Amino acid sequence: MQGKSCFRCSEPSVLYQQYSGRYLCAKHLSEDIITRAKRTIRLQGGIGKKNKIALIPGGPGFLPLLAILGLIIDQRPGMEIVILQSGNDVDTGSAACHILPEMIQISIVPVKQKSCIKVAEHYGADRIFCSSCLEEAAADVLSCVLSGNISGIIQKPDDNGMVIIKPLCEIPHSEIAIFTRFFNLQSNDAGLSGNGDVLQFLSDLSRSHPSVPFSLLKYRDRLRDLVP
Ligand SMILES: [Zn+2]
Repeated sequence: MQGKSCFRCSEPSVLYQQYSGRYLCAKHLSEDIITRAKRTIRLQGGIGKKNKIALIPGGPGFLPLLAILGLIIDQRPGMEIVILQSGNDVDTGSAACHILPEMIQISIVPVKQKSCIKVAEHYGADRIFCSSCLEEAAADVLSCVLSGNISGIIQKPDDNGMVIIKPLCEIPHSEIAIFTRFFNLQSNDAGLSGNGDVLQFLSDLSRSHPSVPFSLLKYRDRLRDLVP
């Protein structure tokens, strides 16, 4: 990156976005991530009309996602975030309180595996936000394809209109790490979540074919469009 300036300002770049052909400084990369996350939220169903949204914690994208959601719902009075706590991340609550604006209420509720939708509905939410990054989202698609899990790809809203939204699904893990440092968020070193073999396969493949994770997401979106 040495010697290359950000395409939007004169600061030294910290990243070359191979898929866009742009060099970016940390500030403009972070702004770019926020813009793209907001766009993905709109495309995947929006924040919804209810005053509660549910959120699955964990992974390197969790705190960045909280920060972005805070920017969005800060302008909507009476909003509450329900954190569906299933892991052992005891710092989830304090981290969330630290990042979100004070006026946003936070509830942390325990969930058992695979009961997230029921619990979110019980607490009055019709959106579940998940912080999967590009590699995790692409590995999920490939895992579904390999195992024949069609419903995992299609993910139509259920009878109660529950929609699962992954705002960071087009943001590579390396960019989320820069965003995390730029906003002084606590980094999560637990690694990516998902099928380890599939993640490794995709990681190896992406070195020579960086567009593969994006192609998998496009394949998923195309299938969703085709299903009535
Ligand atoms: Zn810049």
